[in-house]
Amino acid sequence: MRVVVLGAGIVGVTTAYRLLKDGHQVTVIDRATGPGQITSFANAGLVAPGHAYAWASPAAPKMMWRSLWQGDQAIRFKPRASLAQWRWVLAFLRQCTKQRTQANTAVKANLCRYARAELQKTVAETGIAYDANAGGLIYFYRTAAAFAAAARKSQMLRAQGIAIETRSQAEVVALDPGLATCADVIQGALYAPDDESGDAYLFSKALAEYCTARGVSFQYDTVIRRLRAQNGSMTGVETDKGLVTADAYVLCLGVDSPALASPLGIKLPIYPVRGYSVTLPITDFETAPRLGGVDEENLLAYCPMGDRLRLTATAEISGYSTASTPANFAPMLARAQKLFGHCADFSRAEYWVGLRPMTPTGVPIVDRAPLANLWLNTGHGHMGWTMSNGCAQIVADMIAGRAPEIDIKGLRYEQN
Ligand SMILES: Cc1cc2nc3c(=O)[nH]c(=O)nc-3n(C[C@H](O)[C@H](O)[C@H](O)COP(=O)(O)OP(=O)(O)OC[C@H]3O[C@@H](n4cnc5c(N)ncnc54)[C@H](O)[C@@H]3O)c2cc1C
Repeated sequence: MRVVVLGAGIVGVTTAYRLLKDGHQVTVIDRATGPGQITSFANAGLVAPGHAYAWASPAAPKMMWRSLWQGDQAIRFKPRASLAQWRWVLAFLRQCTKQRTQANTAVKANLCRYARAELQKTVAETGIAYDANAGGLIYFYRTAAAFAAAARKSQMLRAQGIAIETRSQAEVVALDPGLATCADVIQGALYAPDDESGDAYLFSKALAEYCTARGVSFQYDTVIRRLRAQNGSMTGVETDKGLVTADAYVLCLGVDSPALASPLGIKLPIYPVRGYSVTLPITDFETAPRLGGVDEENLLAYCPMGDRLRLTATAEISGYSTASTPANFAPMLARAQKLFGHCADFSRAEYWVGLRPMTPTGVPIVDRAPLANLWLNTGHGHMGWTMSNGCAQIVADMIAGRAPEIDIKGLRYEQN
């Protein structure tokens, strides 16, 4: 079958790979100059089933409210004159009950666990390199109260079969001697031994090259203007380079998914949640962290990637802009410098802004659209790198008429 994948981010590229494996003739279209250049470019790199909590939780509304005057909240709301933004925020708030949080976390955790295994399968099959780092991730806490609360909360993930262990300060340093210099601020940590990390951009690039060598056609610098449909089926993709037609289509357009799907009557509840990243050259490997993780109270993610250290922070519901000022990065840099100032060169930092394609539940939409030959694989929010290989396999299974290996009830598209 001829299949067109719309979007060459981590989700589109992994989808192309799984379709190639099924023997389809695959074309991928993207307006960027290569794969993985938008939200998949400089994320935290954590493959983190051990952090698969839904962001919509009973604590979230207070954070969003406080963020209106206090800028250091984990989730920040910057109101805009935008109906899409307000609709999304209201839908997000409806997911903030204890019951919904648990249900959404269960779906996410199950998907992430499956997806991590699928990532490992892709790597074993292709041999691609992407500054991968196995050995687990460390989620550390600065106060005994926060550590104890986190240990209780982790039951939600353990119930889904995710390994999470508690570690004392001394045990954290034994696990990762790179944290010895900041051990004094660590009360304890949750350690997810099966979590891992790697550079999603390098992965996208290497997998796209692998696919190209085996016949997948990547059409870059190509803007998708409109999706054409007639009598309940897609009939083509209008691009600035002409019409592209196929037997089936998969929409993987990240934060741009709603704009292109909406004219077909497909309303996708996806809105950008902005975050920042900084990538630094490691200058002292002896004292740099060996494993990735999160400084939980500061919500600062860190990840060694070869000879670089990646740091990310912030979840801002503020619209589609990726413009930034040095002030946007200042709080994160100040915190990071205290932790890693001794082992990385902050004067050579590379700065990046990314927009997470978030649904209110935090669960992606992986399903057949209400059109016979269009599939959706979008809305992966803050965990698209973790989820990508699993969601790609689920879409390939659906297109092939096979039953996916996990329960996909929570991933369905719901007509609003
Ligand atoms: C700060 C930050 C930290 C993160 N950390 C992690 C992490 O540690 N672990 C994790 O699992 N996830 C993480 N994420 C989330 C992850 O990066 C995203 O979920 C993932 O990259 C989404 O991939 P995607 O392919 O759906 O979107 P994208 O990578 O944005 O791909 C969509 C593609 O569609 C193309 N496109 C859009 N519109 C058009 C059009 N009209 N014509 C042609 N092409 C078009 C774009 O050019 C783009 O290439 C993080 C995100 C951020 C912002």
